[in-house]
Amino acid sequence: MEATPTPAVRKPRGRVEIDIQKCKGCELCTDACKKETLVLSDAINIKGYHYVIVNNDACNACLDCALVCPDAVITVYKLQKSKKVNITPPDIKEQLRAAATPKPVPV
Ligand code: SF4
Ligand code: SF4
Repeated sequence: MEATPTPAVRKPRGRVEIDIQKCKGCELCTDACKKETLVLSDAINIKGYHYVIVNNDACNACLDCALVCPDAVITVYKLQKSKKVNITPPDIKEQLRAAATPKPVPV
């Protein structure tokens, strides 16, 4: 009789780093994360805000959290073999600024 194969342990594919001292605790990122890897910490940062912390074990590097963070304090890395590759758009602050700027209404 053949032995039942043990299920492969899923390896994390993403890694998120948060500049916690710049986080405002708005929780847009926690709402955006479908893997529920981001939670608000009980602790507060130097600005007096509860900041977000991450459980990187479930992160799949989808980038959604970084794209909704109004302060661009989240950096997402894709793990490839033994190295991590930054996949956060280098112009993310400009993209966020442009998205937040109202478009002129044609007259
Ligand atoms: S990259 Fe995606 S899965 Fe990872 S923490 Fe951000 S939203 Fe969640
Ligand atoms: S979206 Fe940005 S500022 Fe808001 S809680 Fe998440 S990391 Fe902090």
